Amino acid sequence: MSGLRALIREYRKITDNEIKSETGNGTLMGPRGPLKESIEFRDLLNPSRRYFSAFKEDDKYVSSFRLGHFNIPDIIAGSAAGVSYIGGMNLGRALIKEGLADDTRSLGELMLEHKLGILDVISEEGNGRHLTMDIRVYECIECSGLPNIGRPICFFEAGIIAGALSEILGGRVDAYERRCWTNGYSFCQFDVRARI
Ligand SMILES: [Zn+2]
Repeated sequence: MSGLRALIREYRKITDNEIKSETGNGTLMGPRGPLKESIEFRDLLNPSRRYFSAFKEDDKYVSSFRLGHFNIPDIIAGSAAGVSYIGGMNLGRALIKEGLADDTRSLGELMLEHKLGILDVISEEGNGRHLTMDIRVYECIECSGLPNIGRPICFFEAGIIAGALSEILGGRVDAYERRCWTNGYSFCQFDVRARI
């Protein structure tokens, strides 16, 4: 676990630097190029993740997950974003209701165990009823290593975070992915807003 903590510290540095170097001209875009029009089938094969690759056949695990999206037409093109987010919310709620996690720490452990990604709660601010959180996910099963197509794609994971937190906090929670591998970053970052 200490190896993981050191890795998270390293990821925080990388992500902070990428955020610092943003140009801020309206559309968020990370430093990783070149920009592609869309994700192609072959982009889904042979993924590589730094921490999770220590586990046997992580590449097969991740590509199988991604290939599974072909059961919903155009999901990678973004037209199924809403459906994907709602599906994630239902799953996130169920994870808490079924007792698989009961706070952000155990949710992070669950995500690690299922190799969905490395959850990192960077900040949490608010006055009790309104809460905003900066949540990052490293080595996300959805997008880690995918090309930059100019927009984020982790609607399912945003939904999982929103659904799980809405059960944990007991209120309405929205999670919006602002930064992702697919808009040029080396991580996923979610702006989370909660009304409790
Ligand atoms: Zn992402």
